[in-house]
Amino acid sequence: MSAYKKMLVAIDLTEEAPQVLEKAKIMSEAHGANLVLVHVVEPVGYAYGGDIPMDLTELQEQLGKAAREQLAAYGERLGIDKAHQIVTVGRPESEIHRLVKEQAVDLVVVGSHGRKGFQLLLGSTANGVLHGTECDVLAIRIR
Ligand code: AMP
Repeated sequence: MSAYKKMLVAIDLTEEAPQVLEKAKIMSEAHGANLVLVHVVEPVGYAYGGDIPMDLTELQEQLGKAAREQLAAYGERLGIDKAHQIVTVGRPESEIHRLVKEQAVDLVVVGSHGRKGFQLLLGSTANGVLHGTECDVLAIRIR
């Protein structure tokens, strides 16, 4: 019997994402688990404190579209079909917590920068995901 049936790999869209994806793919194959690929687009208004008197809807839509295209490219490369590619809007930690429940995920895979000091061993998103997720969390050290 395998320990994990459904894994969620959360990626930012930086050049570091392939490192996280590659390990998640290996883990999912080793466990014969389904792999769900997730990117959370942060609301554009957050970056400006909601103070800009401008309609940011179009910009938000463009960010979502670019994220879907990027996920589709990764999905094709790794054999993850459209039904398992999710782009959502919100705070990464909260959205990942929500999706873990909604999708009945039993392992979340995130990247970790191994920061020291205040942020201790985990990067901020990885830390936020760990605290509040009921299932197991695998932190991939970003090199
Ligand atoms: P950070 O703490 O922001 O350096 O990010 C560490 C890890 O959190 C990344 O390698 C991803 O696994 C995950 N992550 C960060 N931002 C996002 C995002 N917007 N959507 C999905 N996952 C994310």
